[in-house]
Amino acid sequence: MTIAIALQELRKNFGEVAAVAGVNLEIADGEFFAMLGPSGSGKTTVLRLIAGFEIPTSGSIKIAGEDVSKTPPFNRDVNTVFQDYALFPHMTVQKNVEYGLRVKGVAKAEREVRALRALERVKLVGYENRKPSQLSGGQRQRVALARAIVNEPKVLLLDEPLGALDLKLRHEMQKELKELQVQLGITFIFVTHDQEEALTMADRIAVFNQGQIVQVGSPKEIYEQPANEFVAGFVGISNLLHPESSREILGKAGTFSIRPEKIKLGHDLERKATGKVSQVQFLGSFTRIDVELAMGDTLTLLQENDGSSLASPVVESLINISWDSKYEFQVG
Ligand code: ATP
Repeated sequence: MTIAIALQELRKNFGEVAAVAGVNLEIADGEFFAMLGPSGSGKTTVLRLIAGFEIPTSGSIKIAGEDVSKTPPFNRDVNTVFQDYALFPHMTVQKNVEYGLRVKGVAKAEREVRALRALERVKLVGYENRKPSQLSGGQRQRVALARAIVNEPKVLLLDEPLGALDLKLRHEMQKELKELQVQLGITFIFVTHDQEEALTMADRIAVFNQGQIVQVGSPKEIYEQPANEFVAGFVGISNLLHPESSREILGKAGTFSIRPEKIKLGHDLERKATGKVSQVQFLGSFTRIDVELAMGDTLTLLQENDGSSLASPVVESLINISWDSKYEFQVG
């Protein structure tokens, strides 16, 4: 495995605030890597440190094995796509995409060929002469992408690139970004606070909390085996059995996470509990049911609306639920 990015004991303080508080991380060449965490957890600062827009307080950053901690941004083999796209409003799409090449002194004819190739990659041929104001949000996003890939960086840094798009377009662009990454074969590092986006797109995810990485793993590992209560609660629906409930229902101590789709109505499975329905929400293909247990914890289950399931329970009624012990994962 070739390492594209290596961060060692990376720290960044802004006055009293430790925005990045000791991050160690290796990202492989060609990975689609997501940095996930709540607002203020330090993800963007890590991205800006990799890009060179911030200088670390301490620690080191290596790109393709070379220590770039003191290298200015334009000499690092990375490009950034910002959430607000940062396009030049007075320039055409073509000129926006060519910009980086022009700065580097690439000749006009070659600039044009390469810009067109980048526009082809993001499916935007035919829009060369428009200004950014004449484009939709999704098209602007594509221009920003074309501009970032035009000089073929080793690593593309994406800071909440889909944050400004509506949900439907967001889903479309998620698919396209992934395809683009596979086509280009370069490393993508992607900052998001949207757990679904990270789970569906990334090869691996680092979950951030308070300036530190609390877990790194594949989407499946992060979802099914959260390292602690924070990850269990932040990624997916928080479904925790705290020690009192665990003792009563599981007959063991500790805090356990159970994913909502593993919990079923009725007492057919190994672990059995009874509780009061506190909320029923119709979500289209699923109905979400919250069940309050005697010991105070609330478990959420998702009932598939495929026609085979029983009628949804009524709020305030008592219901039986059950699950298999193999789906309990200890988080504390
Ligand atoms: P978001 O999802 O809201 O962008 P984030 O996880 O990317 O959040 P950062 O933007 O990295 O978080 O911020 C981490 C912490 O550092 C926050 O407390 C933030 O207020 C602080 N911070 C970031 N940039 C600066 C700055 N230039 N000056 C002072 N404090 C800053």
